[in-house]
Amino acid sequence: MNKAEENIKDLISIIVPCYNEEKALPAFYRTAADAVKDIEGADCEFIFVDDGSRDRTPELLENFSNTDSRCRYLSFSRNFGKEAAMYAGLQNASGNYCVIMDADLQHPPELLKEMYRVVKTEGYDCCAGLREDRSGESPVRTFLSRSFYHLIGRVCRLDMGDGKGDFRMMNRAMTDSVLELKEYNRYMKGIFSFVGFETKWIPFHNVARAAGETKWSLRSLFRYALDGILSFSSAPSTIAGTTGAVLLLAALLTGIFSFVSGHGLAGMPLLICLILALNGIQMLFMSILGQYMSKEYMESKKRPIYIVKKKGGF
Ligand code: UDP
Ligand code: MG
Repeated sequence: MNKAEENIKDLISIIVPCYNEEKALPAFYRTAADAVKDIEGADCEFIFVDDGSRDRTPELLENFSNTDSRCRYLSFSRNFGKEAAMYAGLQNASGNYCVIMDADLQHPPELLKEMYRVVKTEGYDCCAGLREDRSGESPVRTFLSRSFYHLIGRVCRLDMGDGKGDFRMMNRAMTDSVLELKEYNRYMKGIFSFVGFETKWIPFHNVARAAGETKWSLRSLFRYALDGILSFSSAPSTIAGTTGAVLLLAALLTGIFSFVSGHGLAGMPLLICLILALNGIQMLFMSILGQYMSKEYMESKKRPIYIVKKKGGF
C-alpha cells in the first residue's frame, strides 16, 4: 500500500429501509451516528429509503439530510416493500462497503465497528449478523418462521437458515453482484446466498423494536415466504408430480387387490381404479408442464451464469 492509498478513507454506506418509522427513526439516527463515530479508517453515509410512508418519516429524513451532510434519502411514490427499498438503497450507495439495517434498532449499530474490522482485515467479503433467538416476538410467529426456514432449507438447497437476515456489511464486489440480479420478485436472503462470497456470521440477540409496530402481518409474511420458495425452487411442481405418481400407484394396487380378492376388474373397484389412474396421469403431466415453465421462469430472471470473485494474469 503506498502513502496516498493509506490516506484514502473507506466509505461505509448504511442503507436503512423505512416504512412508517417516525417513532423509531430519531433513536435510530442518534444511536447509529454515535456507533460509527469511533470507526477508524472509514467515513459513513446514511442512505435512508422511505418506502411510501404515510407518517412523518419523509419529514424526518429531510431534516436529517438538511442538518447532516452524511445523510441522504429517497422517497418512494408508494409502498413498494422492503425488498425494493433495499435494492434502491444499494443502487444509490457509493461506499466501498455497504450495510443494510432496519430502522427499529433490532439490528444493533454497536456491531458496525466489528463488521467493518472483519471485512477490512479478515479477508471476508461479507460480515453478517446472526440472530440467535427470537425473544420479543410472538410464539405463533416464531413457530411459523422456524417451520418456514426448515422447509425452505430442504427445498431450495441454498443456505437461508433462521436468523440469517438482511443485516450485513458487504464489500463492493459482493454489492455489485447483488445488484446484478435484477429480478422483479426479489427475495434478498436467497440472493445473498445465490451470489456466494465468503461470509462471517456474528451472533446477536433479538430485542423488541425500539418503537412503533412491525410492518409484517401474518398474511404478508406468508406471501413473502411463498415468494421465497417460488423464486428459488421448482419444488411445488415436483410435489404435483409425486402426488400423481402416488395416485397411479394407488390405482395399480386397487386393481391388483380387486383381482386377488376375486372381484375381477368390474363395478366399483374398476371405477375407483380409473378415477385414481386418470387423476394420477393428469397430475404427472401437469408437473412435467410445470417443470418446463419453471425452467422458462428461471431463464426470464436473466441471472448471471457465474460470478467471478477474483482474476489474475489476464
Ligand atoms: N420496511 C419497509 N417496507 C415495508 C415493510 C418494512 O421498508 O413494506 C422496513 C421497516 O421500516 C424496517 C424494516 O423494513 O426498517 C424491517 O421491518 P419490521 O421491523 O417491521 O420487520 P420485523 O423486524 O418485524 O421483521
Ligand atoms: Mg423490526
